Amino acid sequence: MAEDCIFCKIINGDFNTEFVYETDKLVVFKDINPKAPIHLLLVPKMHVESLNELDDKELLGDLMMGVKEVTKKIGLKSYRTQINTGKEAGQEVFHLHIHILGK
Ligand code: 5GP
Ligand code: ZN
Repeated sequence: MAEDCIFCKIINGDFNTEFVYETDKLVVFKDINPKAPIHLLLVPKMHVESLNELDDKELLGDLMMGVKEVTKKIGLKSYRTQINTGKEAGQEVFHLHIHILGK
C-alpha cells in the first residue's frame, strides 16, 4: 500500500467501493467517470506505478486472465482494453490499471 494512492485506498476498502470482481491478486471496479457505457478498471492489489515498473510475468498474466474472467462473468463478449503509461500518454493515477471499455 502506497500512501496518497487513491487506488490503494480503494483496494483497502476506505471508500466502500463495490468490486465487480476480486481475486487475491486484483480487483475490478467501475470507473468514476465512464467513457463508455461499460467502463471498468482492473487493478493489481500490489502497488505498481505503471507498466514500466512491472517485472512480474506471473502477475502480468494474472491481470490479463483477470480481464477474460471479469468480462466472462458479466457477459461482455466485445470490449476494448487500454493501459495508459506515463503522464504524456494520459496516465492520471499512478497505480497500474487496465481500462475495460464496452457497450
Ligand atoms: P488513467 O488516466 O490514469 O489511465 O485513468 C485513471 C482513471 O481512474 C480515470 O478514468 C478516472 O476516471 C478514474 N478514477 C480516478 N479516481 C477514481 C476514483 O476515486 N474512483 C474510481 N472508481 N475511478 C477513479
Ligand atoms: Zn497504489
